[in-house]
Amino acid sequence: MKRSYYIAGNWKMHKTRAEAAELAKALVDRLKDGKHKYLAAPSFTSLETVAPIVKGTNIRLGAQNCAAEEQGAHTGEVSVLQLKDLGVQTVILGHSERRHLYKEDDELINKKVRLALSRGFEVILCIGELLEEREAGRAEAVCQGQVRGGLDGVSAGDLGRVVIAYEPVWAIGTGKTATPQDADAVHAFVRKVVGGLYSPAAAEQIIIQYGGSVKPENAAELMAQENIDGALVGGAALKADTFVPIAQFG
Ligand code: PEP
Repeated sequence: MKRSYYIAGNWKMHKTRAEAAELAKALVDRLKDGKHKYLAAPSFTSLETVAPIVKGTNIRLGAQNCAAEEQGAHTGEVSVLQLKDLGVQTVILGHSERRHLYKEDDELINKKVRLALSRGFEVILCIGELLEEREAGRAEAVCQGQVRGGLDGVSAGDLGRVVIAYEPVWAIGTGKTATPQDADAVHAFVRKVVGGLYSPAAAEQIIIQYGGSVKPENAAELMAQENIDGALVGGAALKADTFVPIAQFG
């Protein structure tokens, strides 16, 4: 039997609190009978607003990042303790925008992953290659390095709270989607890497989302692939009218 599906929306640096509340309310209403697992990840500034709206529903509350340290003199950073206090359940880490615009490397991402897991969060670890890396035939090697680096020191027990999101960087926000077959091939490879690091059972169980211009029109075909267990959605997550059909694909 295939793993259960997990559809997550990353709202990035969009929406005021009022706009975030409006979207969250629409999602709660329209996904109340949804069959899958869902997540909404607003900006830090809207977490407190969205938390009571999604509480007790089938939509989890996610943050888009966290600091690598628990607390201290880290101007501008947000701690896992503060996220926990707001009711956040999941932290997205290693997003390509964090890796490439803000120069986060595997070592830093791994520190955040381990800290978030140690505080009981679920982690969505994002991985994915740049266009030039794909063109140089290095997509698998890059993903392998990011999986190994991101999960370094993560116990088999904690792995149950890790989701991997494969997001080819060239497909994020560009309107270009990996073909379902190409995406599935990388997902299968990533599953194999997890199997090598942990166990065949862990490989079989881990949820691997696809991200990169997922839209209502392509969601069902992507989700039909054997190794694709959900989606991490950016642009199309900003409106209920586009996120809901993805969340209810098929
Ligand atoms: C993302 O940022 O995680 C993402 C997949 O964005 P988009 O859906 O807009 O490509």
